Amino acid sequence: MAIFSWNPWHGCKKKSEGCLNCYVYRHDARYGGDASIIYKVKDFDMPIRKNRRGEYKIPSGSIIWTCFTSDFFLEEADEWRKEAWDIIRERHDCSFIFLTKRIERFNVSLPDDWGDGWNNVTIGCSCENQTRADERIPLLLALPIKTKQIICAPLLGEIDLSKYLNGQIYSVVASGESGIEARICDYDWVLRIRNECVKRNIEFFYKQTGSKFLKDGKVYRIKVKDQAIQARKAKIDFKNSND
Ligand code: SF4
Repeated sequence: MAIFSWNPWHGCKKKSEGCLNCYVYRHDARYGGDASIIYKVKDFDMPIRKNRRGEYKIPSGSIIWTCFTSDFFLEEADEWRKEAWDIIRERHDCSFIFLTKRIERFNVSLPDDWGDGWNNVTIGCSCENQTRADERIPLLLALPIKTKQIICAPLLGEIDLSKYLNGQIYSVVASGESGIEARICDYDWVLRIRNECVKRNIEFFYKQTGSKFLKDGKVYRIKVKDQAIQARKAKIDFKNSND
């Protein structure tokens, strides 16, 4: 299965605690840019581009990671999002996955034919602490979305997800924060989320440790290149038994 990235617009506005050290801002600053400038990219129509034979360049069945240099539900993108939905509809043969800190804006510019959700769209609701989880996850649960994820990233505190892990949540991801300014991620917070998922047979994925990893009272500094590797080594990912 081929995997692609599609960033139809670039730049974002900081929204909550998890945005403090946003990787898009850090990346742009490194190259003299400013991620607070939001623009539609020239590759906007990338998923529907065709080759000379008239075939889509992105093959059928691909996974397309969408809008990872912005937020899909950003206010500044309300008009662009209508076109983006048209592209996603046209490529119903591919799976689109995007994460958001703005789930409350889900209905803005939503297509009329959305119905009870499109099979090719997965939406991950990001919540970095208990306050954001309590604010955003009830909204996620109430929305017509076929595949729902909870993304605890960057994980900034202990989160009790137990009341939200009903049959609607397909999977949960936990991840520490990267970068020089990163805040600590306590392994016990990760394990708590993981254990709640296992109890309810919900898929769990530990994406990365983050740069400041706390375990058994000691803080370890983990290099970026090792963060995902260390998370894999923990062997705490969980596949739901229906897969
Ligand atoms: S919502 Fe995401 S992309 Fe936007 S500022 Fe926050 S962390 Fe960055």
